[in-house]
Amino acid sequence: MKAAVLYGPRDLRVEPAPDPTAAAGEILVRVRAAGLCGTDYRIWSGDRPVRYPLILGHEFIGEVAAVGEGVENVKPGDPVAVEPNYSCGACSLCLEGNRNLCPRRTAVGIDVPGGFAQLARVPARCCWPAPAGLSDEQLLLTEPLAVVVRAVARAEVGPGATAAVLGAGTLGLLALQVLRARGARVLVVGRTERRLDLARQLGAEATHSLATGPGIEAARAFAGREGVDVVIETAGTPEAVAETIELARPGGRVVLTGLPHEPSRVHFFGVVRRDLTLIGSMIYQDEFPEAMRLLRDGAVTVGRLVTHRFPLEAIQDAFAAHRQPDSIKVAVIP
Ligand SMILES: [Zn+2]
Ligand SMILES: [Zn+2]
Repeated sequence: MKAAVLYGPRDLRVEPAPDPTAAAGEILVRVRAAGLCGTDYRIWSGDRPVRYPLILGHEFIGEVAAVGEGVENVKPGDPVAVEPNYSCGACSLCLEGNRNLCPRRTAVGIDVPGGFAQLARVPARCCWPAPAGLSDEQLLLTEPLAVVVRAVARAEVGPGATAAVLGAGTLGLLALQVLRARGARVLVVGRTERRLDLARQLGAEATHSLATGPGIEAARAFAGREGVDVVIETAGTPEAVAETIELARPGGRVVLTGLPHEPSRVHFFGVVRRDLTLIGSMIYQDEFPEAMRLLRDGAVTVGRLVTHRFPLEAIQDAFAAHRQPDSIKVAVIP
């Protein structure tokens, strides 16, 4: 097969690699598309060290090429989305039902070879059969959608609630749609006018550009009170985290799902004074089926989120495109 192998920071080579085979309990996936995200970029650039050489790519979908002994959830030919994290199943966090927090969690495309390749080998429990009629692009967004399905569930949003989403990238634009599906009114706060435009097309009732100043007044005007009921943070920058907390009303809930890699200066006086609930939301654990349902029912549309597609040979261009302000989700098609 062909694979994009990372040998060191920015040293990514598309080359022939041995075909993996599916052992007992495993599935061999013929990759049809793999999305690129900030995590891949951090690994590619060397910000996040990994064991080299590594085949990156954790957001991928495809069809089952072969199954190992004992696999029953899918059969060859089935289209699948890959849940690229699996837990040990034996530690106290796993046994308590917190698989996403397992300290021995294995991330496909980070700890073991991933989907920037024609074939990938994953445990059967990582493969979710796609509902009939989903396109490759819809299926490709299942993984990031699962992240925000969990975040929105943790926000406990009810019909008529007011919500703000911070960040208008893939996660933000998906969170907006999940919040709408739960009956919330949504304000999207971001930086890039083009993306805020798209947010309005996808159902945001209002948007605010941080380029024009902080969002607190916009949140108050939107909610018609001291701030919004819930805020979902998806940008993952220290500034965004600080901004997020300002938008919530007294008694509001703030869910953080972006991963800020640097410390954030948060004014905690306001957190106590306004009796805020701050919630971290780490990836997903049981959200893939719900994400697929939302895609199948059309509650979440992805057509305009996949902005760039590159063949595997041009994967370097895919990393460059990821940093362009006009890109949302960049896909690699092996
Ligand atoms: Zn990702
Ligand atoms: Zn565990």
